[in-house]
Amino acid sequence: MRLAVIAHDGKKAEMVAFLLENKDRIMSAKIVATGTTGSHAEKAGLKVKKLLSGPMGGDAQIATMVAEGKLDLIFFFRDPQGKHPHEPDIQMLMRLCDVHNIPFATNPSGAQLLLNGWSAN
Ligand code: PGA
Repeated sequence: MRLAVIAHDGKKAEMVAFLLENKDRIMSAKIVATGTTGSHAEKAGLKVKKLLSGPMGGDAQIATMVAEGKLDLIFFFRDPQGKHPHEPDIQMLMRLCDVHNIPFATNPSGAQLLLNGWSAN
């Protein structure tokens, strides 16, 4: 399983908690993350490959990986209350996930269902 994780600032703690709760399921996954989300995950003891921070192009890097067929699942915990300068990159990522039919979850409930479904396969 090749997984990308991204969380807006207001959702980073939720992302780390979600990943820790599902540690057994994601243990053998290759995980990439936008820079700051990745740092938080590393501090919690998880092994991830960090890309650029989101506003510096991290979401665009993940979008490129989707276009190249290099990712299986995307978890992007978005903060619906915030405004984000890199919104065009986020839109690009979501669009490319739809173009390539890549599962994309924007909150822990959806991510949990995707992980459960992946494990059941
Ligand atoms: P970050 O980026 O993990 O570097 O904060 C997330 C985002 O796209 O806002």
